Amino acid sequence: MVLAADHIDRLGAILGPQGLLTLPADMVPYESAARYEGGRAAFVARPASTEAVSQLVAYCVRNAIALVPQSGNTGLVGGSTPDDSGTQGVVSLDRLRSTFTFDTYNRSLRVDAGFRLSEINARLEPHGLFFPIDLGADPMAGGMAAANTGGARFLRFGDVRRNTLGLKLVLADENGTVIDCGKELRKDNTGPDWKQLFIGTGGVFGVVTECVFNLERLPRQAATAYLVPRSGEAALCLLNELEERAGTYLSAFEGMSGLAIRHALTHVPSLRNPFPAGEIPGYVILVELSRSWARRGNEQALDAVLEEMLAEIWDLPDAPLLDALIGAPAEMWALRHALSEGAKSAGYVVGLDLSFRRGEVMRFRERASGWLKAAFPQVGICDFGHLGDGGVHFNLVVPHNPDGSVDAKLVARLRSLLTEIAVEEHGGSFSAEHGLGRRNQHFYDRYTPEKLKQMATQLKQATSPGPIGGVRF
Ligand SMILES: Cc1cc2nc3c(=O)[nH]c(=O)nc-3n(C[C@H](O)[C@H](O)[C@H](O)COP(=O)(O)OP(=O)(O)OC[C@H]3O[C@@H](n4cnc5c(N)ncnc54)[C@H](O)[C@@H]3O)c2cc1C
Repeated sequence: MVLAADHIDRLGAILGPQGLLTLPADMVPYESAARYEGGRAAFVARPASTEAVSQLVAYCVRNAIALVPQSGNTGLVGGSTPDDSGTQGVVSLDRLRSTFTFDTYNRSLRVDAGFRLSEINARLEPHGLFFPIDLGADPMAGGMAAANTGGARFLRFGDVRRNTLGLKLVLADENGTVIDCGKELRKDNTGPDWKQLFIGTGGVFGVVTECVFNLERLPRQAATAYLVPRSGEAALCLLNELEERAGTYLSAFEGMSGLAIRHALTHVPSLRNPFPAGEIPGYVILVELSRSWARRGNEQALDAVLEEMLAEIWDLPDAPLLDALIGAPAEMWALRHALSEGAKSAGYVVGLDLSFRRGEVMRFRERASGWLKAAFPQVGICDFGHLGDGGVHFNLVVPHNPDGSVDAKLVARLRSLLTEIAVEEHGGSFSAEHGLGRRNQHFYDRYTPEKLKQMATQLKQATSPGPIGGVRF
């Protein structure tokens, strides 16, 4: 163990018997990440209250012990796990799970950092409400705030930033200062909107212990279809045509490459291949319409509304649509949410979480795919993502070597060259919604203007000068 025994004793006294893990076997789940970035922890602290987080953080800051906050540990950029040094302690929020109070008139929820998204929505369902973040993983409230999760319903409901009314935090200073930013208010122009500083900054400015979230009415009707666009350009044309016809009923517009679908179908045998004669198209869009009330008397079913809209689009001159398949939402979403794991089962995933102006996504895709096929024909392109908001998980699958290892130089080269194309040629972001972690530090250093980096450093000093978080601002 790298940390002196008296520190471990003191931490044990602060956290109580269940609050501190130091045995290697107990720490494994907190040391390994959802995809690859894992490390070695000096200890895992599991405080069960904001006060305990405060005491822990104060002790660690005074003794220069580095901490990495962790909630659901589903992050994909190496932010939630310790590095290989064995000197960082993990602060897991998984025992911080007392407060869960919601206000149906205000449509808001006050929730401790350690509640999982699935649990939040299961508790809200009987009340006809939900927290409108949707993704193929099951993160916790604190991690969602720290990473600013986007997900598949961003187009309709926005990200966590848009759905957060307030946060309670512990700053990494010598006192472990507790601050409350934001109440259960949607409008509050009484100064800087402080909570925004902590959303999407991966815990570097402090530990989120409690969140106040905006809730939405649970959809009571939904209709989904797989659309095959005529071309990349046509995919965006389809988006415009659907937005014009469906307005805010349009709740998802998700792109899925043929190879990503193929891997998901192979990896999850319970999924059904929905395409005629089993032939998977090169690119498919999952579109969803939804509304918050149950169908009344003579009201047209949402399936029929969607069908009518697609028929109108079909009849347009130069129709952007090659094929359309309306189907059961649960089944269609099951395939969408299996894409990430499907890619992982096929080889080593080089995941690039990119975003662009919406019209630029498919241009990037065509440029990058053409280049990859010529230069690295062994690499599979398994992209999918949130086309409706300009996002794409441009995932590449690199085959493992016969001994199970991976060509690390190739992986680094692919990541770097494609990020260059995305940022420098197409004006995109190198981290659309997964945030910064060790994985993206290099790109943050390279692409963030000097003045903004200086400002981030000053903010770090002003909020949490202690060694916390997996990123250097
Ligand atoms: C299959 C799969 C699909 C995914 N799909 C999406 C998607 O569609 N959209 C999307 O945005 N993301 C997606 N993700 C990524 C991930 O689920 C999100 O980033 C999620 O918000 C992370 O939440 P978490 O609770 O797991 O946080 P963690 O992974 O534990 O942590 C994430 C970051 O926040 C920091 N942190 C954690 N808790 C706290 C806290 N209480 N206070 C301060 N800092 C903290 C960590 O240090 C780390 O930097 C996906 C992941 C997987 C595995």
